[in-house]
Amino acid sequence: MGADIHNLMMHYPLTLTHFFERSRRLWPQKRLATRVPGQPLFRYTYADFAERTLRLAGVLAELGVKKGDRVATLAWNSHRHLELYWAAPCSGAVLHTLNLRLAPQDLTFIINHAADSVIFADASLWPILEGIRDRIPSVRTIVIMRDAPEPRVPAALPEYEALLAAASPLRRWPTLDETDAAGMCYTSGTTGNPKGVVYTHRAMFLHCLAQAMTDSFGISEDDTLLHIVPMFHANSWCLPFTAVMVGSTQIFAGPNPQPRDICELVQQEKVTFTGAVPTVWIAVKELCEKEGWDISSLRTIAIGGSAAPKAMQLAYRRQFGVTMSHAWGMTEMTPLGTIARLKSYMKQWPEDAQYEVRARVGYPSVGVDARIVDEEGRELPWDGASMGELQVRGPWVVSAYYDNPESAERFTADGWFRTGDVATIDAEGYVQITDRTKDLIKSGGEWISSVDVENLIMSHPKVLEAAVIAVPHPKWVERPLACVVPKPGQTLEPGEIVDFLRPRLAKWALPDEVLIIEAVPKTSVGKFDKKVLRERYKRRRPNDA
Ligand code: AMP
Repeated sequence: MGADIHNLMMHYPLTLTHFFERSRRLWPQKRLATRVPGQPLFRYTYADFAERTLRLAGVLAELGVKKGDRVATLAWNSHRHLELYWAAPCSGAVLHTLNLRLAPQDLTFIINHAADSVIFADASLWPILEGIRDRIPSVRTIVIMRDAPEPRVPAALPEYEALLAAASPLRRWPTLDETDAAGMCYTSGTTGNPKGVVYTHRAMFLHCLAQAMTDSFGISEDDTLLHIVPMFHANSWCLPFTAVMVGSTQIFAGPNPQPRDICELVQQEKVTFTGAVPTVWIAVKELCEKEGWDISSLRTIAIGGSAAPKAMQLAYRRQFGVTMSHAWGMTEMTPLGTIARLKSYMKQWPEDAQYEVRARVGYPSVGVDARIVDEEGRELPWDGASMGELQVRGPWVVSAYYDNPESAERFTADGWFRTGDVATIDAEGYVQITDRTKDLIKSGGEWISSVDVENLIMSHPKVLEAAVIAVPHPKWVERPLACVVPKPGQTLEPGEIVDFLRPRLAKWALPDEVLIIEAVPKTSVGKFDKKVLRERYKRRRPNDA
């Protein structure tokens, strides 16, 4: 027998601290900026960012934040929020990003469930906390972040810049284990109470590496990133971590960014990479068409969170020369699952065929195993036709929700996470999300994918947005109802949509009714909120007035 050959590499913990320290050394002169309404952009360097983050770690220590304590944020996208993104986990605390669009009772539930000990809040968002501060007993301190005096905020509350100025920077980060909790995010759950997902350092570390790969989003030091995805949504798609890891120039969209702010920042700062949900890109496209903004500096727009219609992706390519990178993910997956890259030989295909591929959500990222299963849990073939629940596993996929035993049924006995999405996977490995399990429309014996019908409707030149929902039907159980929003200044008759769909859809999948509405309601993270539409039209019968 020879000598022991097992495990002769260092055990080096995969923690965010490594990224922070490396970045601080390598790119001190690289730049970051935040949009501040009514003022020029706030600008500073990575050296400033690193120094302030170490000071912030000093502040956390002075506030009594211990390992594993939850440090919550209620804030828009900004350099301060980025400092919290790094100071909390590298100190051994857990960054808990609160969704500022939630109803007060959900926010109260989440803060209490996570037992947050400190909240860092933007002054403009103080009214949200004011209403619930008596109901969140675990919160010892609320720190206010502001660019200008805010008269509504009680003067007694500590202020971020003052604390930072008075603090001594942390001299040495604590040694952490890679399985220590780094961040926490609650899903905007549709049933029951919101559920908490806790990201480990290891999950984030590996996710950042995978996300930056050329065959993923290809994020590099050369890029100028614009952070639009709210920093409370799904770990902000991990982009604020990946961007620091690679040393990109970073721009933060600031409070409540509107489409015009986004266009202005892209044009002025020559942004090369950004990401957001499709509803944002629908609005930006409208504005670019109307006002002629130049967004051609963009190398890639990451788009996901809900389906990115082929017609919109094609329009961005043809009109603005911008390629979209369609991806699918979940809060529970840190969040990247699949990404729609073309394989090299597909790049020779006609443009239309290429965009058929791009309209799917792509193949699984390295690090993610995916399968589809039928209702009995049997694995289905990758043939592009068999449709089943998508299940995933991997080092950045949730293994249990935080303190939530009742959600155990989301995990299979053989170690997979049930996504709740219904999908097909083709022989090339490309995943097509047909629906959320609850959004599929069951008409007679046939399943109708609401996403397919929506995407077709949104390729109509007069249509801005469309959402398709199931309404109860006495004979067919459920039938599709299409809610369609025309582009501004356009008049649209329901019959035009039906005529448009007829040659493109199976007869039974044609919506029984098309309603022209003013706007599709949106969720707190900007996705179409079909719950609201289902509630609004639940008693509607075909041909009701
Ligand atoms: P959240 O964790 O709130 O971002 O929601 C995750 C869910 O959003 C997934 O389970 C999908 O239902 C949906 N989703 C995310 N990306 C896509 C996409 N590219 N196409 C269709 N649905 C998506």
